[in-house]
Amino acid sequence: MAEFTMELNDEQKEVRDWLHGFAADVIRPAAAEWDEREETPWPVIQEAAKVGIYSLDFYAQQYFDATGLGIPMTMEELFWGDAGIALSIVGTGLAAVGVLANGTEEQIGTWIPQMYGDTHDVKVAAFCSSEPDAGSDVASMRTRAVYDEAKDEWVINGTKTWATNGGIANVHVVVAVVDPELGSKGHASFIVPPNTPGLSQGQKFKKHGIRASHTAEVVLDDVRVPGSCLLGGKEKLDERLARAREKARKDGERVKNAAMATFEASRPAVGAMAVGTARAAYEVALEYARTREQFGRPIIDNQGVAFQLADMRTQIDAARLLVWRASWMAINGKPFTAAEGSMSKLFASETAKKVTAQAIQILGGNGYTREYPVERMHRDAAIYTIFEGTSEIQRLVIARTLSGMPIR
Ligand SMILES: Cc1cc2nc3c(=O)[nH]c(=O)nc-3n(C[C@H](O)[C@H](O)[C@H](O)COP(=O)(O)OP(=O)(O)OC[C@H]3O[C@@H](n4cnc5c(N)ncnc54)[C@H](O)[C@@H]3O)c2cc1C
Repeated sequence: MAEFTMELNDEQKEVRDWLHGFAADVIRPAAAEWDEREETPWPVIQEAAKVGIYSLDFYAQQYFDATGLGIPMTMEELFWGDAGIALSIVGTGLAAVGVLANGTEEQIGTWIPQMYGDTHDVKVAAFCSSEPDAGSDVASMRTRAVYDEAKDEWVINGTKTWATNGGIANVHVVVAVVDPELGSKGHASFIVPPNTPGLSQGQKFKKHGIRASHTAEVVLDDVRVPGSCLLGGKEKLDERLARAREKARKDGERVKNAAMATFEASRPAVGAMAVGTARAAYEVALEYARTREQFGRPIIDNQGVAFQLADMRTQIDAARLLVWRASWMAINGKPFTAAEGSMSKLFASETAKKVTAQAIQILGGNGYTREYPVERMHRDAAIYTIFEGTSEIQRLVIARTLSGMPIR
């Protein structure tokens, strides 16, 4: 087990500097354009693929980094560049994690490379869980997967929404109900291979922020996938369902809501994205406050401005520490006895919203225009308190973990 450390090692610093160079030289200069266009920034993804940032190898290396700091460091630097473009780059990795975590060796080897494509023909992947009537309340999911034993195929029907890369992905990972009696315990994940008939894109959303990232509905109409597309395989699913049924019978109640189930290990990664956006806005505000003069002196000479910057920096550093602690706990299999993963996501995402708003204030009128990036960063920051569980759901999970009580 790696000791918890607050410093990156030399190798990580090298990777961080390389990522920062890409974020500063390639991502940041393209940010305003793709935000306006509201389109997937394929040329930037292609560029990231060319240098090795958009690749399974790189992502897996960071994911399995024994210190736990590989993923937060990567997220912070890329999202420092620009949140919308960075999400277009890492969105595939988030879908790939679903396969890495639950898939068999064969599924990992078959599908993850197809999620990324190759440097000449890059592809993206999507993770589809949310539905119009199942956001925070994951257990009310309706998309249904039924096993057709004669053909060894699963037939999937339903409508997914808010899917990052939904409809434009080469590979979709779809969560569906296989046993409605078991609530979220009766869900399973499926690979929907490229060009499978019956899968189509619904509406593409026009968003407030992270506009370079594609978000859309995904409609599944009698989608048939081979038995081998069930993540983890049928035997494992049957065992899991049998255990859940037994537990439900003993507890005498329906198995509890998955919205409350914690994704402690993945949430710090979203916290790290928020830290990246917050740091970016803070840096712009600091530089502006040093150079903008009013009343014959730089505005940072006023305590009212300087103290805001002091608070911004303090909160960003605190957020990063919470994210690093939770990431270290996750890789070392430490029990999240106080929902430390949710805690890190809650604090970092709220910090990003606050800090980016303060940055606009410090830039005055300029902060309110698209001539300066803090306006975009503030719009982008609003997503962190919504996706991967809203702030309210994080509080609910933390409170329930602390109290040991089901909180409704
Ligand atoms: C840009 C974007 C990208 C996304 N990407 C993906 C993706 O790739 N894949 C995917 O599956 N999903 C994705 N999502 C979906 C996202 O995870 C959901 O939007 C989120 O879980 C919230 O669900 P909802 O929007 O239905 O809100 P709701 O659940 O309807 O919540 C509405 C409000 O009610 C509050 N609320 C709900 N229940 C409670 C409660 N018990 N106590 C207190 N407050 C409560 C919420 O906090 C929120 O403020 C994405 C969303 C967005 C906006």
